[in-house]
Amino acid sequence: MPLTQAEAIVLRDYSLAEADLIATLFTLEFGKIRAVAKAARRLKNRFSGNLEPLSHIRIEFYERENRDLVYLNRCDLEETFFDLQADYGFQVACAYMVEIIDALVPDREASPRVFRLLLSILRARKEAAESIPLLAYFNFWMLRLSGLLPVLDTCVHCGTPLGNGGGRLILAEHKVYCQNCKRSGGASLTADCIIMAQTFARESIRQVLERGTFTLSVFERFNAILERLVVAAVDKPIKCIDLLHELRRSPGNLPGSAAKHIPAHS
Ligand SMILES: [Zn+2]
Repeated sequence: MPLTQAEAIVLRDYSLAEADLIATLFTLEFGKIRAVAKAARRLKNRFSGNLEPLSHIRIEFYERENRDLVYLNRCDLEETFFDLQADYGFQVACAYMVEIIDALVPDREASPRVFRLLLSILRARKEAAESIPLLAYFNFWMLRLSGLLPVLDTCVHCGTPLGNGGGRLILAEHKVYCQNCKRSGGASLTADCIIMAQTFARESIRQVLERGTFTLSVFERFNAILERLVVAAVDKPIKCIDLLHELRRSPGNLPGSAAKHIPAHS
């Protein structure tokens, strides 16, 4: 049977039969696939625990005719993000990202830019203490790469640039207006959110975090807007969204959310 190689991130695992595992893998080359790892749950196995959720791995697999599943032959660990998930807040953020990728990226369709987005966010978490900037960046780019991000920096009606006065997002229309064209209704999109959108569009998450020019409250405000757009785009309930909101309301009550903040100079 011909063997195929790929680079992948483990999205989730399920137990199968006695000792086998099915892993949903997001591969760079083939998009999302479901792979059977034979005997992966035995103590000594050739996959050696490399199929933990969010592990970045290299795999070798084969397919059988007319089967939805592929079969793993080999799995080597490139990079692990397992330790990061000791932070409960980040664990929930990861569950959210996996859910959104599941909803917006079709199976078996290569989406290299989404793959790199997820990997860059996992890597950036090693440097950043807070999850909100990462979630805002993730939501922004998931919407943009899915063709679901409205024009945020210009009024859709009169063409005024919104960098100074901000605008209003009318969710039902999926459009942003200036304050003169829409005086009420919708969600307020403040000028600093628009500057953040322009920054996200041209910089990597690492650059955004390094520049340190945005306060956490701007990340929170912009993320709330983006999240509403994501919820509208995913036409089914997002399971872990309540948990995310709960975390935001009472971050001090949950494990792993110590008072670490990204630098804020504005
Ligand atoms: Zn206008």
